[in-house]
Amino acid sequence: MKTSLFLRSAAVLLTALALGVFLFARLAVDAQAPAPPFDLLITNARIVDGSGNPWFRADVAIKDGRIARVGRLGPATAKRTIDARGQVLAPGFIDVHTHVESIYSQPAAENFVRMGVTTLVTGNCGSSTTDVAEFLGRMKEKPLAVNLATLIAHGSVRRKIVGLDDRAPTPEELKQMESLVERGMQEGAVGLSTGLIYVPGTYAKTDEVVALARVAGQYGGLYATHMRNEGDKVADAIRESIQIGEQAGLPVEISHFKISNKKLWGQSPMTLGLVREARARGLVVTVDQYAYTASSTSLDSRLPSWLRAGGFEEAKKRLADKATRERAIKDTKEALKRSGFKDYSFAVVASYGPDKSFNGKSIAEITKEVKDKKDVTSQIEQMLEMYEAGGASMIYHGMGEDDVKRIMQEPFTMIASDSGVRQVDESVPHPRGYGNNARVLGRYVRELKLISLEDAIRKMTSLPAQTFGFRDRGLIREGFAADLVIFDENTIIDQATYDKPHQYPLGISYVIVNGAPVIEQNQLTTARPGVALFGPGSEGKKISHATAQRRNENL
Ligand SMILES: [Zn+2]
Repeated sequence: MKTSLFLRSAAVLLTALALGVFLFARLAVDAQAPAPPFDLLITNARIVDGSGNPWFRADVAIKDGRIARVGRLGPATAKRTIDARGQVLAPGFIDVHTHVESIYSQPAAENFVRMGVTTLVTGNCGSSTTDVAEFLGRMKEKPLAVNLATLIAHGSVRRKIVGLDDRAPTPEELKQMESLVERGMQEGAVGLSTGLIYVPGTYAKTDEVVALARVAGQYGGLYATHMRNEGDKVADAIRESIQIGEQAGLPVEISHFKISNKKLWGQSPMTLGLVREARARGLVVTVDQYAYTASSTSLDSRLPSWLRAGGFEEAKKRLADKATRERAIKDTKEALKRSGFKDYSFAVVASYGPDKSFNGKSIAEITKEVKDKKDVTSQIEQMLEMYEAGGASMIYHGMGEDDVKRIMQEPFTMIASDSGVRQVDESVPHPRGYGNNARVLGRYVRELKLISLEDAIRKMTSLPAQTFGFRDRGLIREGFAADLVIFDENTIIDQATYDKPHQYPLGISYVIVNGAPVIEQNQLTTARPGVALFGPGSEGKKISHATAQRRNENL
């Protein structure tokens, strides 16, 4: 008995001693070994961390795609080091308003990464995939240079269930639309988008959108809208957007916030005031903007929505009838009058398939060339003929610079391009797809001193991340994803113009996505480190309507 107790005590003692020696040895080894090497070290940069705070100087160490350390790291070892002396290091830009459904055909997304963009949100303006799982899942087989998230779009859902008809959905159809939105949210969409000027989104009444937005809100998504009107009825459209957010209980993001009616130029204090007022009531409403006075969309968006009901073939049939054609011309002419422009010289063709010589010319110029006419009726006739031949994508020089500036200065405005992936030298698209972020930093920050560098970066990084729920992006913080951009604040500038849009900006030397450089010393690399970003619904959590409303109030 005593012996066994002694033996047991001795055994315990020996074990403890052995463990002690082992731990001591380990500690001694740790103290002598160099710190584990980082994958990448960026030294000497001025850090603009995305929060809006003034810049500071520090080193940033990256390991396994994440920001491992921020600070004075001394002789830390890394597999490679970038000396960013004299340059700014910022979080990679998050472009929340894009149309990149075709991104898998151009996985480098060069026009975006060249302007410092590391994350894209697509599915905007009512048009998206209706198979979110497939769309985001494709990234596994076809890696992209950038991170990608998508909205689920009302227009695409409606097209699938109701077609292109100008009518309300039946209760049964509405249920089917709701369940498509629900599936999209469960598969990882970040919210619902609408395009209420487009076919078929334009045929939806407010209550239909509320019903679908409520589903998106139940899964923690937001409501992103290309509003019903950005011209003479812009105030009504803002009120409708806010009402949808309020009734459906989810945050509202107004896309490409603008005033495109010449008679209303200078009214942005009023339109911004409507958003401020909603925010003062506790509703989460934000906006995004591209830094140009021209917009870009389809030619047919200028034509009456009744004409486009049922789709293109139906519209063609209607236009074959003389009286209907005259009515279309009359309505289009009235819309032009309401918009404050005297003719269509503000409307420039970006891409017209049947005759590429039209690209870059205004409708007024084309009408002069083709018909030798200058009057508005002939210009509308020309537009109808182009529509009948398949349509065109357009650039509309419709905004006032003062409004663009005022909207940019608003704290809740983020910077987004409204662009797709571009194919170099294909057509004459809007330059925003090549220059947007660089233009803000070069022109509006450096040249015009309209906003500070720190605030501009915030509008491109942490504000979009906060709004769209990307919790570990948009800031330079330890533990955050290593999406980063290095640029020279003294030289950064856009080069793309309306005449020559296919030009990359200057001054951006490195763009890093999840720790891997996709732009390195101004050159595109072969790295495709992007990941799919899934919305909160993919975690299987459905929040009650009451909670969604509280979320709106409390955020
Ligand atoms: Zn849009």
